Amino acid sequence: MEFSDEQIHRYSRQMILPGVGGKGQRKLTEAKVFIMGAGGLGSPAALYLAAAGIGTIGLADSDQVELHNLQRQILHRTCDVGLPKVESGKKTLESLNPEVRVQIYAERVTSVNIREIIKDYNLVLDGSDNFPTRFLVNDACYFERKTLISGAILRFDGQLSTFKPHANGPCYRCLFPEPPPPGLVPSCQEAGVLGAVAGIIGLFQANEALKEILGIGKSMAGRFLQFNALDLSFHELKIQKNPNCPLCGENPTIKELIDYSQSCQTGGSEKDSFYGDVCRGEDFNPQSPS
Ligand SMILES: [Zn+2]
Repeated sequence: MEFSDEQIHRYSRQMILPGVGGKGQRKLTEAKVFIMGAGGLGSPAALYLAAAGIGTIGLADSDQVELHNLQRQILHRTCDVGLPKVESGKKTLESLNPEVRVQIYAERVTSVNIREIIKDYNLVLDGSDNFPTRFLVNDACYFERKTLISGAILRFDGQLSTFKPHANGPCYRCLFPEPPPPGLVPSCQEAGVLGAVAGIIGLFQANEALKEILGIGKSMAGRFLQFNALDLSFHELKIQKNPNCPLCGENPTIKELIDYSQSCQTGGSEKDSFYGDVCRGEDFNPQSPS
C-alpha cells in the first residue's frame, strides 16, 4: 500500500518517530480496534486512535447522549444530546479523520453477540461502566484470544492494565474472579468522577493500543497501574496469571460466557466498574480482591 501525499502530511509527526515510520503507519492503517463504550474512557481513546489513523474503529454503546455525559464524554457535543452515542461518536471521529472506518454497534452487547462482534478485531479496549459488561468483555477476549486493554475510573482515581492470557499473561478474573457483591463498589453516578481523570485513563488505553499495534515499548501485560489525580501519584503492581483463575486457570469452571444481571448491581444506569482501594498495597494478592 502506497501512502498518498495527504496521508504522509497528516501523519508526518508520528511517521518520523523511531519505531513508527512508513511500516508502523501501515500497521496502524491496517489495524482494527474495538472499543466497548463511547463514554468517559472510550471517547478520548477513540479520538486519539482515529487521529493516529487506525484503519477500523468499532464502537459499541447502547445508550443515548445525555447532558450530564458531556462533562467528560468528549466524543459528544451539546447538539448531540438525545442521539445514540455511537452515531454521535461516529460523526465526531469521521470529522476528525475521514480515512478511518467507524463500525458502530448500537445494540446491547451480550453473551449472544459479543464473540461474533469482536472476532474480526485485533485489539479490544474496555471502557465499559458496569461489572456485567466488564466480565463479559474479559471472558469473550479470553475465548477469542484477543488482547484486552482495560481502564477504570472513579472520583479522582484511575486503573489501567493489559490482559493477554493467550500469551501467558493474567486475565481480569485472575485479579477479580467474580463481580463484587451489590453495594460494595459505588458508581460514578453515586460517587462522581473528575472528567480529566477519564481523559487521562482513556488516553493511557489509546497509548497502550498504539504500542501493542506497533510492537514498541513495554507492554502493560502483567502490570496494574493505579493513578490518583489529587496527589498525581502512580502506583504499579506486578500481576501474574492466577493458577486458580476460574477462566484461564488450571481447572477452569467457566466454559462459556455469562450474562450477569445488571439489576444485581447498585447505582442505577450509570455504574463504574472500579475496585477502588481493594488491591492497593505491596503484598497484592490477586486471589483476594476484597
Ligand atoms: Zn485469568
